Amino acid sequence: MQDYTPLKKGPELMAPEERSQKHAVHYAWVDANREQVNAKAREWYQRNKERRKAAAKIFRDKNAERVLAEATERRHSLTSTQRERYAMKMRNWRSDISNWGRFRANVLKQTAKTRGLPFDPELKTILQEMIQQSRLCRCCGKTLQFGIARGHQNKDSASVDKVVPSLGYVRNNVQIVCTECNRRKSDSTLAQQRQLLAYTEKYNPEQGAYARG
Ligand SMILES: [Zn+2]
Repeated sequence: MQDYTPLKKGPELMAPEERSQKHAVHYAWVDANREQVNAKAREWYQRNKERRKAAAKIFRDKNAERVLAEATERRHSLTSTQRERYAMKMRNWRSDISNWGRFRANVLKQTAKTRGLPFDPELKTILQEMIQQSRLCRCCGKTLQFGIARGHQNKDSASVDKVVPSLGYVRNNVQIVCTECNRRKSDSTLAQQRQLLAYTEKYNPEQGAYARG
């Protein structure tokens, strides 16, 4: 690292020209030592991760309206290049299967909130454990597809089913199924599913049940 004397007084105590001069020196130094600075920042973050996260959460909760307004403002002021770059970053992030649990949990947290359903804050971990066990639909057994954006899912996309809908997104009440099975299930009541099953079993010629019935 090059020699560097840190700023002795806060920028607010300096005359504007002194301030900009000191800042120019400071940022020139930062630029010249980018790697070390980043490494040090990363190391600090790892040491203070939990504390930092807790503080950020307190700030977000306290300033919920401001945080939301600023995020909206930032989104609206993006140039088309920035927008595209951001979309690409998100696509890459989503297509990494190790982010799937977090991605789905983020979306479902909002769903649960809107519908007033129970939501386990550990859902991302629960989902990640489940896809480590198997990447097949728990209902029909087909191979699931992961990492597709909301609104673009096809019938093979992985989705999270609430086995008993009113119990919400909690451990032991969530299963990973394909979008096709999930839709079919949510379109019918348990009574209708029983009716269909009874009907299929009764009249399915392969089982010979028709002859018996
Ligand atoms: Zn399925």
